Amino acid sequence: MANLNCSKVLVVGAGFSGAVIARKLAEADIAVDVVDSRSHLAGNCHTARDEVTNVMVHAYGPHIFHTDNEKVWEFVNQFANFKPYVNRVKAITNGKVYSLPINLLTINQFFNKTFSPDEARKFIEDIADNSIVDPESFEDQALRFVGKDIYEAFFKGYTEKQWGVSPKELPASILKRLPLRFNYDDNYFNHKFQGIPEEGYTAIIEKLLDYANITVKLNKNVEKREAKDYDHVFYSGPLDGWFDYKLGRLGYRTLDFIEERHEGDFQGCAVMNYPDSDVPFTRITEHKHFSPWENHEQTIVFREYSRPCGVSDIPYYPIRLLEEKKLLNEYTALALKEKNVSFVGRLGTYRYLDMDVTILEALEASEKFLALKSNNNKI
Ligand code: FAD
Ligand code: UDP
Repeated sequence: MANLNCSKVLVVGAGFSGAVIARKLAEADIAVDVVDSRSHLAGNCHTARDEVTNVMVHAYGPHIFHTDNEKVWEFVNQFANFKPYVNRVKAITNGKVYSLPINLLTINQFFNKTFSPDEARKFIEDIADNSIVDPESFEDQALRFVGKDIYEAFFKGYTEKQWGVSPKELPASILKRLPLRFNYDDNYFNHKFQGIPEEGYTAIIEKLLDYANITVKLNKNVEKREAKDYDHVFYSGPLDGWFDYKLGRLGYRTLDFIEERHEGDFQGCAVMNYPDSDVPFTRITEHKHFSPWENHEQTIVFREYSRPCGVSDIPYYPIRLLEEKKLLNEYTALALKEKNVSFVGRLGTYRYLDMDVTILEALEASEKFLALKSNNNKI
């Protein structure tokens, strides 16, 4: 709950969560200190030009902005020029290249057919496992909606590599993120708005934080005891970290990016997935294809490897299996008892959040805080 006479706020984390909250509060004349343990702004959305190739690199993996939310789209467009961009992912499985998400081209190429949309729909319905009524696991969801052959070629190996567990243990919700299409639309996302900021994401965060009343400090890890100097804290660091991991650690996957530079064009697209189990990485990102309006003779690619997150690694994907959910509930109960601390963002709430949802939640958290403050001032 907010200290309603608040005049000085600490924001832990300079990713989208922290930067949006800091900006909204500062616009309401509140003094805000933003602190981040990393040496740069923008958290996992950080972008920077590669010194050798001059390509804009998505340092923590490929980030494409996509949303259906007009409020969020309008908000981010105040801080960047978004270039139109459609994410068209490819996948190499069993020695052949296919289009993702699974669409009519993928189905026709994979089964060596020339189906019309209706024929493909009927064919997939026939090969899908219709005995599964209400799929709960990732595997059941895949078998129910695309059948064994597509599941094994595109999803099983990738998911095992990505999550380190059997798709039988993962929730169906992870697969539900991906569309299944019976036309030739190969847009990876269904959202109305999609784009890439011309100058990268870090430039957006810089603009958000460039405002009177905001101070920014990098390379500084904030601990709970430092909160006492402030009227309120918005914390976008790891939920369990705030409590010094006293109940144990919430599980995450971390990523390693092995970079290579080449002349010319390496793979012809921004993201190539590798679902085969005998390939150790999950995907290769070629960053220059995220900025097709720029010309670069050289190229930089990241091979992406997923593994369990160690104590000193950067947490990427929350693993929300049964055990973690139990621990999460225990930490959430502790969080609710904290006075003057709001837990926000992907780490503070231990959820996989896209950028648009992160921004929306940050806007809502600031609005709620300011409304409480203003009601109090009227009393
Ligand atoms: P973060 O960006 O993680 O920021 C939190 C910050 O807090 C970090 O900078 C961290 O250093 C700092 N911090 C933590 N603890 C402390 C502490 N104790 N003291 C000081 N500082 C601290 N979303 C999309 O919309 N589109 C995409 O294409 C997309 N691709 C993604 C690809 C990958 C590989 C991953 C992992 C995520 C992707 N996302 C994507 C999601 C996106 O990264 C998140 O929505 C976004 O980063 C969330 O912002 P945040 O501010 O909550 O967290
Ligand atoms: N996935 C897969 N094969 C692919 C792409 C995705 O099996 O080629 C699975 C994988 O389990 C992944 C999930 O689908 O975690 C969601 O995919 P998405 O592209 O949304 O993953 P993210 O953006 O989280 O990396």
